[in-house]
Amino acid sequence: MENSCLFCRIVSGEIPATVVHRTETTVAFRDIDPKAPTHVLVIPVAHHADVVALAADPSAAADVLATAAAVAEKEGLTGGFRLIFNTGRDSGQEVFHVHAHVLGGTPLGPMLA
Ligand code: C5P
Repeated sequence: MENSCLFCRIVSGEIPATVVHRTETTVAFRDIDPKAPTHVLVIPVAHHADVVALAADPSAAADVLATAAAVAEKEGLTGGFRLIFNTGRDSGQEVFHVHAHVLGGTPLGPMLA
């Protein structure tokens, strides 16, 4: 837990979020500024700044992917979904606690449109 980290504070419940799925090691909550009918963020409970750091913790990385899959099933994304990890300055990453964006519920169009 890093006190200055927004998503660590969501994990602890200090900052409210609409949680859609939680495991011992992950939390999934609705993005406050949704870019698709379903837009959920999946984070590990353990603080890792980005997906490069998460890759050094294979168990947490696998848990994040499993939770993303569970969210897609719960949200009924039978047509598919997009999973995005913005990483670093060029990606526009704003929150430096790794998060997978789960986007779906409509045809999403080309990746970089
Ligand atoms: O990948 P990136 O760091 O740009 O995304 C951060 C995401 O966190 C944004 O989509 C933003 O809307 C979301 N957010 C949120 N709840 C907050 C603060 C940010 O869902 N309290």
